[in-house]
Amino acid sequence: MVRFQNLARFPDIGSNSYLLEFGETRVVLDAGTHPKHTGTDTLPLFEKIEPDSVDAIFVSHPHLDHIGALPVLMRQQITAAVAMTAPTMESGAALLHNSVNVMKAQKRELNEPAYPLYTHRKVDEFERLWFTREPGEVFSVGHSDRVECEFFPAGHVQGAVGIQMEWNGKSVFYTGDVHFEDQTMTRAAEFPEGKVDTLIIETTRGAHPRDPGYTREAEKRRLGEVIAETIAGNGAVLIPVFAFGKTQELLFMLHELRNEGIIPHTPVHIGGLSTRMSQIADRHCDLETRNHRHFELLEDFEDLEILPRGHREPEFHRGEIYALSSGMMSEHTVSHRFARRVLAEPEHALLFVGYADSETPGGKILAAGQGGRVQLNSDQDHETPIKCRVENFDFSGHSPREQIADYAVSRDPDTVVLVHGDEPARAWFQEELQRRLPNSRVLIPQPGEVVDL
Ligand SMILES: [Zn+2]
Ligand SMILES: [Zn+2]
Repeated sequence: MVRFQNLARFPDIGSNSYLLEFGETRVVLDAGTHPKHTGTDTLPLFEKIEPDSVDAIFVSHPHLDHIGALPVLMRQQITAAVAMTAPTMESGAALLHNSVNVMKAQKRELNEPAYPLYTHRKVDEFERLWFTREPGEVFSVGHSDRVECEFFPAGHVQGAVGIQMEWNGKSVFYTGDVHFEDQTMTRAAEFPEGKVDTLIIETTRGAHPRDPGYTREAEKRRLGEVIAETIAGNGAVLIPVFAFGKTQELLFMLHELRNEGIIPHTPVHIGGLSTRMSQIADRHCDLETRNHRHFELLEDFEDLEILPRGHREPEFHRGEIYALSSGMMSEHTVSHRFARRVLAEPEHALLFVGYADSETPGGKILAAGQGGRVQLNSDQDHETPIKCRVENFDFSGHSPREQIADYAVSRDPDTVVLVHGDEPARAWFQEELQRRLPNSRVLIPQPGEVVDL
């Protein structure tokens, strides 16, 4: 008997974690935190798993909604084997350390007694217990009931994988977060084909159809044109970006745009965690799952400037590009610190290249647009006028819903389990897949729900 339990605490994206039981063998897929909650509410429903009962934990990729709760789970499941790819291991450890710092700051600010949920020392201690497996290696976990496992490149971010598991003639495939098309650096997913019994799929973009006119290449060109116009007008460009993944994708886009003659050679500034994450990407620059192989950002990218650490008011130059984290311009981050100067003058441009939640300063600026006003600090009533140009670009690391649905249909599954999506997103997938797979079960398991497969 194979059994699935949804350990996500809320029916949306965040705190991803799923328990699979293959006979006596118990495997947990991902252990993420929820970005919109605080304290122990950010954790998956780990209280549903008996302590020290899990044989293996797999991490699909190092975004915090997949790895952020791993130290908490490991504390409860001390003998579980923890596997991920080598790039995920390095980026994941760095992001967990950063998350300790963020939790410590939030402990004071939000008066959250549970924070930090783990310490730097625990992250170091646990990291030594992780082991790596790469796509192409078949391995097995468990004791009497061995489960055969294999990772497959998932696109999305460097090192991300989908996970195929087989036991007793039954097969399960978990997509994790997936992109079936090449990004600038990260190449498209290479997922297995053929019949699978159970498919667990992400549904992030389920609420919106793919724009038939969209191409990543045209979107990149539009970004380049706005940058070129801003620099020609003696303005500065601020691009708020997530330190891991998006920063490296953006740097490669800027590199290509320079080579194509669309933007001029002008200094590009990065800082803080982005530097560390780019270093890790450089160490894995020979990966077959990436474009621009052997190009090291910190070595080979011309005019890359690293912002000095800890400066509250770093220097700001017209005609230059600032690619700074965080992507949503959250308070106490470098991109937030630069916001006031960029917003103050119409020559500057503020360009969004990733998702910004509507509750964050970035999301509020996007909603108000040029000519609007925004409250940048939550503890002040003061509103700042938005005088600069504001533009939004779509470089999503997730596949459009149609591609994921096509993949699901191609594997002819008996059961499809829909995860990692808001309610309308999962609802679209359920309707679409039920129509195209009339003999399959298409399920939306609620938090804590158990499903026999
Ligand atoms: Zn992700
Ligand atoms: Zn995710």
